[in-house]
Amino acid sequence: MTTIALITGANKGIGYETARLLGERGVTVWVGARDEERGRAAVRALRAGGARAEFVRLDVTDEASARQAAARIDGAHGRLDILVNNAGIVRADPDWLPGGTTVATLREVYEVNVFGVVAVTNAMLPLLRRAEAARIVNVSSEVGSIASVTDPDGPLWPLTSVPYPSSKTALNMVTAMYAKELRDTPIKVNAANPGYCATDLNGHRGHRTAEQGARVSVHLATLPADGPTGALWGHLWTVGGDPEAYGVLPW
Ligand code: NAP
Repeated sequence: MTTIALITGANKGIGYETARLLGERGVTVWVGARDEERGRAAVRALRAGGARAEFVRLDVTDEASARQAAARIDGAHGRLDILVNNAGIVRADPDWLPGGTTVATLREVYEVNVFGVVAVTNAMLPLLRRAEAARIVNVSSEVGSIASVTDPDGPLWPLTSVPYPSSKTALNMVTAMYAKELRDTPIKVNAANPGYCATDLNGHRGHRTAEQGARVSVHLATLPADGPTGALWGHLWTVGGDPEAYGVLPW
């Protein structure tokens, strides 16, 4: 029986690489994308590489779109084994300072990075419960870790922006709460920190590749039964560790 995965924002960047790496493992990957043309182009590329890939239109800010995506996957498979909530955006007001932050910017970022995750997860939860042992991966960031950004000796100390970092902090809490709700089921819910990867999100300034970032999501999406739940998992460089090694990070 093939494993079924949905990755949101899978038409490019870390989401696409997550779909590609899961596809290489024989997983049937549903490419969630808000734009049909970009989503179908990604599916063509994945299929050309030998993956079993399907397109599903999914704008995470639109609850109806999440429900329709769930209905499509339900109709095709009746269950969902892996949900990777990967879609995310960065926005900031001009001076990147808390005092210059507008509610409009905050709201725009939270719509995708926080509310979108809750909308998609809740739409998919009945399908995830029907799987043997589903995995939910919320793609977060080390900049959402309060412990990391408030460490004066850490690399994230200079960061001052509110919208994106606080959205990932909220996402970490969302992750912890779903993990608690589902702790008596085989479902595991974790947050992934891909590390700073060169993608459109940051004008390709990241020092890691999108594929390196995707490996953390794949790791959490394929955890064994004795794996962790309710953790932020990622590269350890933010806490002074080996840049290539990863493990549990502080919230
Ligand atoms: P990216 O290349 O900009 O890709 C973002 C993806 O999210 C795109 O597919 C985009 O679709 C999609 N998306 C945005 N808004 C959406 C919406 N309303 N509905 C559905 N899809 C939507 O960025 P990335 O670097 O791969 O980011 C992927 C995830 O990793 C994000 O959650 C990000 O916060 C996280 N992350 C990235 C880094 C990094 O250094 N790159 C570090 C830490 C965490 P469109 O093409 O239609 O815009």
